[in-house]
Amino acid sequence: MKTKIALLLSVFLFTLISCENNNSDKQTPIDAEPIFMDLSSYYSQWNLKATNGEGVPANLRVLKAEYFTTGESGKIGRTVFFMNVGNKKLAADFVPDINFSLDGTTDISYYIDENRPCSELSLNETTSAIQRAMATWDNVSCSNLNMFQLPYTGEQTGFVAALLGFGGSFNYFGDVMHCGWLPRDFFDIIDIDGGSYILGVTFTIIFTDSDYDNNRKSDVAWREIYYNDNFSWRIGDHYDVETIAMHESGHGLSQAHFGTAFLDSGTGKLHFSPRSAMNAAYSGIQTNIEKTDEAGHCSIWANWPNQ
Ligand SMILES: [Zn+2]
Repeated sequence: MKTKIALLLSVFLFTLISCENNNSDKQTPIDAEPIFMDLSSYYSQWNLKATNGEGVPANLRVLKAEYFTTGESGKIGRTVFFMNVGNKKLAADFVPDINFSLDGTTDISYYIDENRPCSELSLNETTSAIQRAMATWDNVSCSNLNMFQLPYTGEQTGFVAALLGFGGSFNYFGDVMHCGWLPRDFFDIIDIDGGSYILGVTFTIIFTDSDYDNNRKSDVAWREIYYNDNFSWRIGDHYDVETIAMHESGHGLSQAHFGTAFLDSGTGKLHFSPRSAMNAAYSGIQTNIEKTDEAGHCSIWANWPNQ
């Protein structure tokens, strides 16, 4: 009897091992090269004079978008550059000089625009989830962002929304802007293949007048995050607001995507190595940041604002 069980067990183990081998044969890493998109036709619709919170003219442009996809789509989130500056990988960071900060402080502010609610959840639910996501980044101990939430004023926000004709404003409100939920049409504009698999996107808006801190990186004026209302959003289930807000806020705080994506041709699903909040597609609920996320965050923010 015992030998029979042992035999069965070894057959079972062997099957398990060979299944694993089969799987890894089918897995191919996915290319995530940035792409370029020309928004000049949108700019030409506006006599664009962006102004800061004090009404002072500031020359601003949308540098890039980083979007985040569903793992089931088999499509990986990518970076789309909108400014053809000859270097598609142009980096951008916030300026640690209060003279060039639009709100006159080096503290990191964020704002949650409740004008564009999620169809399937209450404002209380989505706002709390975004607050938890922001707190997770703020609680990383290497950095001192003095993060604070700006009170909701009811004003329309969103530079990119305004640019693309979805309401909004070209004015500065805060450093990291959660601009709310928009219909799929908005996401179709930022991906030539259509935006049906894009869950969320973060845009980087930069000053184009000069490199104020002379570090050869574009100076971030602020960042804007939008969520795709085409999906069934949930709290603690799929698609989880906090998970995606945390990912987008990572971009809001200057982090790029991280980890290699593999497509399993058997299941058609994506998975990542290593798994982290900054992986380029949704692969389940992730409300804690991983070591790689923390390392990325600290490499950007550990010395803020004394850089
Ligand atoms: Zn992303």
